[in-house]
Amino acid sequence: MSEKEGCRTRRVSFVNSNDFDLTDCCRICKCRATAENGIKLRPLFNGRRLTRIIANTVHIEIKDIQGLPRFLCEKCLNILKTFSIFQVDFRRSEEDFKMTIEARRTSQMDALMEFSSAIEMEKQRENDQKSAALVTNFLKKTKKNKSKPKLQN
Ligand SMILES: [Zn+2]
Repeated sequence: MSEKEGCRTRRVSFVNSNDFDLTDCCRICKCRATAENGIKLRPLFNGRRLTRIIANTVHIEIKDIQGLPRFLCEKCLNILKTFSIFQVDFRRSEEDFKMTIEARRTSQMDALMEFSSAIEMEKQRENDQKSAALVTNFLKKTKKNKSKPKLQN
């Protein structure tokens, strides 16, 4: 099996760990870049962006340890990008769904509140009318009462 095929199956086994320099591999799939296979390795610790993306997507903290690979092959980089985008999209969708449900719940609550306040206002209006009628009656009575003593005088 060639190294390229090994990389495609995502498994590269070390026959003898003394055979080659470990730092010359992809940190994720262990493939090696040679002049023949055309594999390109990218620096892994060039800034903290890549290690942070790896930590966020696969929850594995990669540290720059002496003797271990400091590279990532382009194939793994592309998979990582796809996975990262997939995760971000998925998270955003979940957030959107939650917010939509919350907004619906809130609008239902608003509708209920509107309904109950409309009922309250209707009750208040009825009470006001009753009070007004009572006041009118009272005023009518007091007018009659006031006019009586005048007549008596
Ligand atoms: Zn790789």
